[in-house]
Order: sequence, then structure tokens, then C-alpha cells
Amino acid sequence: MNIVVCTKQVPDTAATLKVDEQSNVSWGDAPLVINPWDEYAIEEGIRLKEKFGGKVTVLSVGPEQAKEALKQAVAMGCDEAQLISDPAFDGSDALATTHILAQAIKKLGDVDVIIFGKQAIDGDTGLVPAGVARRLGWPLLSYVAKIDELDPATRSIKVTRSLEQGRQSIASQLPVVISVVKEINEPRYPSFMNIRKASKLPIPTLDAAAIGADAAKVGRANAAAQWVKTFPLPARTGNVELIAGDSPQAIAAALADKLMAEKVI
Ligand SMILES: Cc1cc2nc3c(=O)[nH]c(=O)nc-3n(C[C@H](O)[C@H](O)[C@H](O)COP(=O)(O)OP(=O)(O)OC[C@H]3O[C@@H](n4cnc5c(N)ncnc54)[C@H](O)[C@@H]3O)c2cc1C
Repeated sequence: MNIVVCTKQVPDTAATLKVDEQSNVSWGDAPLVINPWDEYAIEEGIRLKEKFGGKVTVLSVGPEQAKEALKQAVAMGCDEAQLISDPAFDGSDALATTHILAQAIKKLGDVDVIIFGKQAIDGDTGLVPAGVARRLGWPLLSYVAKIDELDPATRSIKVTRSLEQGRQSIASQLPVVISVVKEINEPRYPSFMNIRKASKLPIPTLDAAAIGADAAKVGRANAAAQWVKTFPLPARTGNVELIAGDSPQAIAAALADKLMAEKVI
């Protein structure tokens, strides 16, 4: 089985994000990590390989430093990794990202399953899995909480989707695009053997020409959704008033009077 997992490198969730007047977002010295949702996608890809054989290729569109995220995925157990990077991709929107990823996946040949996390914790659009499925003309099985059946012989797959109000069982034919939620598995820690493999594995960088990307579909100038402004929420303000009194009953009564005066109760 030929499995592809897509991952994005994002700032650590513990990072304190700052936004300047020019809408530049920075996170100081905080480390960049694999998008947390993608750890579940990587784990599921590895489990499919362990069950059915084949290989897992992990892809990321991003700058050179995104190779660290790819190495982490290999350390977990992915077999191959490719970075898709080109200055022409800078400022690409989600639509363009789906074009870039779909082109790179077409170059990989006969892929059976593509796995994503349900969203990236920084961009947060959740658009990329659907866009890649649309570009390839493959079914999208989104918010997958369990792969119930997969039969490489009949090329069929059945999954359980996690919906806000319940669950849905859905079947499809391969090839397919899946996005997963965290109920699907428990991501493994990298093994010592795989950490060594990741440190030695050459990770090729494919540029726009190598994947046959259309220059008119990528980059800031061609973004269908232009980022106009990014700004932090105003700091919350509030007053603290200590209520004094001769007894707990008197303090409680004074508090109740104040809450009623403010129409809170
Ligand atoms: C410098 C800069 C400028 C930008 N300018 C714009 C702009 O002008 N307009 C605009 O709309 N957006 C802009 N973006 C945002 C960018 O387009 C999105 O971050 C990107 O398309 C992915 O969308 P998302 O983060 O919402 O991913 P989601 O759709 O939430 O992610 C879903 C899944 O897709 C995977 N995925 C997402 N991105 C990648 C990737 N690059 N490689 C591999 N897998 C991926 C995620 O890891 C996750 O598994 C800009 C980003 C940067 C860094």
C-alpha cells in the first residue's frame, strides 16, 4: 500500500504569539513542531503500513526548516520524506497549497491513501484535505475517528466519522483522502532506531518545476484569499473589589447586594 501523509510545521502550542503593526506574527525562540493533529495522521499511516505492507511517504510544503518536522515523522516510522519548497510559493493561500500538494502527490505515482490531520493549529482553515481531494478527483473522508475496514484486494475502505452530534459510518473506494481526529489512535514516540534513520535519511527538496506547479496558481499575488490584517484581541480589563465585613454572612449579603445591583442575579 502506498500511503502519503501531509504535515505542516507550526509553532509550539506553548509559544506566546506576538503580532506587530505590519501583521507579522512571531513566536520568539519557541520551537517549531509537527502540527499536533498530524501526529495522529502519521501514526495511522504507519499502522496501515504495518498491517498491509508498503510504505509511508511524508510531505510538507514549507521552508527548509520544515525538514525538521519531516525528520520527526521519519523518526516515528515513516519511510520517505519530501520537502516541497520554492520562493514562488511564499504567501500562498490554502487553495494554492492544495495545488502544490496535489502536484507533488501526482509525481509520487500510484498512491492509495492520503492522510491529513483535521486542521493546522496556526492557519486553522481545515481546507487543505478537501482541496487536495478535489484537485485529485478522489473521495474525501473527513474527521475520521476509526478505519473500520480496508481491503486492498477490492480497493474498498469503511470508516467511522466523528460528528459533533454523533458518528457516521461511510464507505468508499481507494484511492482516498482522509483527515483524522485525535480519537483515531495514540501516536507513538520515535524509536531510537528510527531517530538514527531520520538523521541519515536524505530528504529531497522539490521545487515548483520539479512538481509541475502552475505559476499562475501559487504565491501571494495569486492568492484568492488575501490576508489583509492580523491582530491580537484587545487585552481584557477588569476590576477586583475585595468585600469586607464582620462575618462571612455579612460579606455574603454584601456580595449578593452588589450582584443584584449589577443585575448579575
Ligand atoms: C508567510 C505566509 C503568508 C500567507 N499568506 C496567506 C494569504 O495571503 N492568504 C491566505 O489565505 N493564506 C495565507 N497563508 C496561510 C497558508 O495559506 C495556510 O497556512 C496554508 O494554506 C494551509 O492552510 P491551513 O494552515 O489552514 O491548513 P489546514 O487546512 O487547517 O490543515 C489541514 C491539514 O493539511 C495539512 N497542511 C496544511 N498546510 C500544509 C503544508 N504546507 N504542507 C503539508 N501539509 C499541510 C495540515 O498539516 C493538516 O494536516 C500564508 C502563510 C504564510 C506562512
